[in-house]
Amino acid sequence: MNRLNRQARERLSTLLDGFELQGATPRSNWIDGTACPGEGETITLVDPATGEALLDYRDAGPALVERAVASATRAQQAWMALTASERGRRMNAAVRGLEGHEEALAQLESVVAGKPIRDCRGEVGKVREMFEYYAGWCDKQHGEVIPVPTSHLNYVRHVPYGVVGQITPWNAPMFTCAWQLAPAIAAGNGVVLKPSELTPFTSVVIARLLEQGGLPKGLVNIVNGLGPSTGAALTGNEGISKLVFVGSPQSGRLIAEAGARRLVPSVLELGGKSANIVFADARLDDAVAGAQAAIFAAAGQSCVAGSRLLVQREAFEEVTERLARAAAGIEVGLPGDEATRMGPLQNARQYAHVTRMIEAAVAAGARVIAGGNRPAGLPDEAQGYFLAPTMLVDVTPEMEIAHEEVFGPVLVAMPFDDEEEAVRLANATRFGLAGAVWTQDPARAHRVAAQLRAGTVWINGYKAISVMSPFGGFGDSGFGRSSGLDGLREYTLPQSVWVETAGEASVAMGYGNGVG
Ligand code: NAD
Repeated sequence: MNRLNRQARERLSTLLDGFELQGATPRSNWIDGTACPGEGETITLVDPATGEALLDYRDAGPALVERAVASATRAQQAWMALTASERGRRMNAAVRGLEGHEEALAQLESVVAGKPIRDCRGEVGKVREMFEYYAGWCDKQHGEVIPVPTSHLNYVRHVPYGVVGQITPWNAPMFTCAWQLAPAIAAGNGVVLKPSELTPFTSVVIARLLEQGGLPKGLVNIVNGLGPSTGAALTGNEGISKLVFVGSPQSGRLIAEAGARRLVPSVLELGGKSANIVFADARLDDAVAGAQAAIFAAAGQSCVAGSRLLVQREAFEEVTERLARAAAGIEVGLPGDEATRMGPLQNARQYAHVTRMIEAAVAAGARVIAGGNRPAGLPDEAQGYFLAPTMLVDVTPEMEIAHEEVFGPVLVAMPFDDEEEAVRLANATRFGLAGAVWTQDPARAHRVAAQLRAGTVWINGYKAISVMSPFGGFGDSGFGRSSGLDGLREYTLPQSVWVETAGEASVAMGYGNGVG
């Protein structure tokens, strides 16, 4: 155990103690208002900065999943027995449970996920925002009245599913947890959420603090463990009526299949290979700054990372040179350091995947113009998963790195000649999560945006995301939407109610009742 790793272990231990999750076996689950340890196999968390072990905890296992679903089922009925306004008040109150704990939550995320502490502080703010936004929706889910061509009053109610199962990845654990919890409970559901086995604790803490603030006991349950054991127990549980998954396309397929076997619908928020299109008439200072943030924030471990830079040929050399210089200047460092802008990759498997993709691209003829190796200036003990901000040119559309997700700090740049080619290159991937267009010609900006097969498009910007606006993918980036009213509606089913107003029932055989 080296000095840095010892510090990280001590910090984690103090933080878990502070949240009363420390025990002989860490209490890595939150079920029916109680923190409890897992019952399955031992899982070792590894420190992303040093590559050494941080902590052992145990997989939750099927029996705890069953208890969590039972708890959510009970609590959901009590939740729906409250008035809609009371549910909104409780959600607003729940947010106050976070007060005073923001810094500890950010620290916990930073040490386990390996994310820069500055980024983690920002994400705690997002948790708050998401609950406040959806609290406001609780008493505004009005339903509709349909002007049917008969003597009926026909109205539509938005009815919760009951208990939903949610599964989240390791790249933004707090963010994705709150992102899915808030609309689910605002719509009237109970929840069992399984975070990534690599980042188990912040979701448990969020559930606990929200309950301390005012959420009913047992409405939100967190189970931690591996996909094939705890995850599969959740997706296969008879008490779950909808699945919401955020993660890779490979696992997404398994989740959708598990749902289909029980005829349970799913929402899939999957990966991306987003194109960042820079026309020669763009404000190049802005485009360079935007392209840098688009790929290197979170060390590229972001579903919307702008991982493909398409630059009009006249500006290609200037933009790529400036970006390569900017990449070399990014402060890569330890997650807990205030100056760090980019931390390590989160885990060994991801590091191996990213470095393999770079090697394969170089073998196929691509050229590295920035990074591609361990960043300079790190302490010797930082033997974790650090990779310098990396840029590749001489990339052709057929290369794997041009169309498959890297999910790391790796930007590939390709030139294009005209609008038609820019759109063709941008759409030459099975993904369709996001994209951006940089130009000072407004007509071109809208024209190109409309042709991109992507759920989110930015014009002269990147990564503006709000809980108020729908988010989701086309193609292999998934289906269904999160955030905004669309995100809320994913958590309800419409129920159509027909009331005869003619005074006497007019029930006929066949379709004689006006149902055409
Ligand atoms: P992953 O698919 O490996 O794991 C995601 C979750 O699925 C984890 O909790 C894992 O334990 C669980 N899981 C795996 N197999 C399972 C199974 N058989 N049954 C049930 N659960 C199972 O993804 P990851 O590596 O954690 O995350 C990175 C991926 O997530 C990237 O592709 C990234 O683009 C994507 N992502 C997408 C969004 C979005 O909103 N579109 C947001 C963040 C991350």
